Amino acid sequence: MKQLKRSFLVIGLGRFGESITKTLSSLGHEVMAIDKDEGKVNKVADLVTQAVQADGTDEGVLRELGVSNLDEAIVAIGDDIQASILTTLILKDMGFNRIVVKAKNDYHSKVLEKIGADMIVHPEKDMGVRVAHSILSGNIIDFIELSPDYSLFEVSASEKMNGRSLKELNLRAKYGCTVMAIKPKDEGKINISPNASDVVKTGDVLVLVGTNRDLNKLEQELL
Ligand code: ADP
Repeated sequence: MKQLKRSFLVIGLGRFGESITKTLSSLGHEVMAIDKDEGKVNKVADLVTQAVQADGTDEGVLRELGVSNLDEAIVAIGDDIQASILTTLILKDMGFNRIVVKAKNDYHSKVLEKIGADMIVHPEKDMGVRVAHSILSGNIIDFIELSPDYSLFEVSASEKMNGRSLKELNLRAKYGCTVMAIKPKDEGKINISPNASDVVKTGDVLVLVGTNRDLNKLEQELL
């Protein structure tokens, strides 16, 4: 299925903002990239629809650039918390459909939540949690924290799970985890909302939702 072309404003082109910019552009979306540092702007200039050297906290300049014609914004200003908050406030006033902001710490995150950022990310912290889980268990492929308590995770079925149906594995009763999908190892097709009678083979990928506590238990006993 071809994805609809979407339009993004990225402010702050450090490692995080640059990586988002490059990925969105390479997937064919329209991206306007802004940084106050000219060198950072030049690095992405050839890849994006428009790259501009500007200060994200300068509302007049943002309006002149017509940024409000874009649908979604990503504020990836790193250390300057004040600039990040002010930029988010300005963009919020401009009526973006969605504003995603990189937070540096919990205090920053709380303020962003209060002023209406739609999605707040903590790249280092989130990546740390993911890497720790995959170090502890080679079977955890990916891990997304949905809330402080709940997560979505992808695990590779272990030998212990091989040849057993979902009913036999009884993951919901034993670990409080719901299996959302199974990606069989040998087939390209993904099985969405699998049945109790579906059998798991070693190496199949299971997509699960559950609490972080449940995941730890499942990790220790089954993976
Ligand atoms: P990372 O950890 O993602 O590398 P950095 O803190 O290194 O984050 O990068 C943040 C980027 O945001 C830098 O390129 C910096 O020039 C840019 N930046 C900081 N303040 C502003 C601002 N007010 N307007 C535009 N860009 C800014």
